[in-house]
Amino acid sequence: MAGTVGELAGLVAAGDAVVLSGAGLSTESGIPDYRGPSGAMRRSTPMTYQTFTGDAAARQRYWARSHLGWRTIARAHPNAGHRAVAHLQQRGLLSGVVTQNVDGLHQAAGARDVIELHGSLDRVVCLNCGDLLSRDELDRRLRQANPDFDAAVTAINPDGDVDLSDSDVDRFRIVDCQTCGGGMLKPDVVFFGETVPAGRVQECFALVESARLLLVLGSSLTVMSGRRFVLRAAKLGIPVAIVNQGPTRGDGYAALTVDAPLGTVLPELVRLLDLSGVAA
Ligand SMILES: [Zn+2]
Repeated sequence: MAGTVGELAGLVAAGDAVVLSGAGLSTESGIPDYRGPSGAMRRSTPMTYQTFTGDAAARQRYWARSHLGWRTIARAHPNAGHRAVAHLQQRGLLSGVVTQNVDGLHQAAGARDVIELHGSLDRVVCLNCGDLLSRDELDRRLRQANPDFDAAVTAINPDGDVDLSDSDVDRFRIVDCQTCGGGMLKPDVVFFGETVPAGRVQECFALVESARLLLVLGSSLTVMSGRRFVLRAAKLGIPVAIVNQGPTRGDGYAALTVDAPLGTVLPELVRLLDLSGVAA
C-alpha cells in the first residue's frame, strides 16, 4: 500500500535490509530507463543473445553503437540515490545490495560487495575461451581499428548503445579476442534471452531469505529476473518495500510503496534515519 518516507524509514531502521535496484535509480545520472517514465524515448529494441551471436550484421551494429554509448556510460556520475544507498550500507543498515543495472554507479558512489545480477558493461568476455578484458582495453582497440569513426550521438539507452545511421554502422570495424585469436567478444552483461548464472541467483536468494526487509529501488519488476526475489520474500513473510516512479509488478506483494523520484526519496530517508540516530 502507498506509504510515506517516514514509514519507510521505520522499516529500514530495523536493519538487515537487502536492496534490489533497477534502471530507475540511474535515470537521474543521465541513463534513461526504457521501461519507466521516459520509456518512449527508446527507439531500438534490446539486443538478444540469439541475435548477437547468430547475426554478424547485428553484432557489428551493436558494437558500433555501444562504442559511442560507452563514452556516456563511462562519464556518468552516481546521483543522490546511489550515494544514499552507500550511506545506508556504511551505517550498517543493509545486509546486501543487488542491482539489475550494468553501469557500476553503486560502486562509484562507495557501495561495497554489490552483486551485479545482469553483469557489468565495464567488462568484456570472449565467448570462445572465456577470457575477460576491461572495457577500457576494448575501447582502446576499437579506437585503433576505427580511427576516423566519428558519428553523432543522438540517443543513449541503458544497454549503453546509441542510435546510428546504417552507413555509420557499415564502416565500423569490430575486433576479436586476442588471447585465443578470433573468439567472439561480448560485453559481460546478461542479454535478453540469456539466463543469469545460477550461482549468482542462489547468492541473491540466500541474501533475500535472511533479510529483514527487501527494499526495491527504481525497478518496475517487469522481468522475472528481479521479480522472483520479491516473490520469494513475500512467500517467506519478509516485508517488501518499493520505491519507484510509477506502478510495478511487485506492488501487490509490497508492505509499502512510495511512488516518487528516488533522488528525492532516498536522501530524505537518510535524513530521517540520521535524525533518529539509528545505528549511530
Ligand atoms: Zn578468446
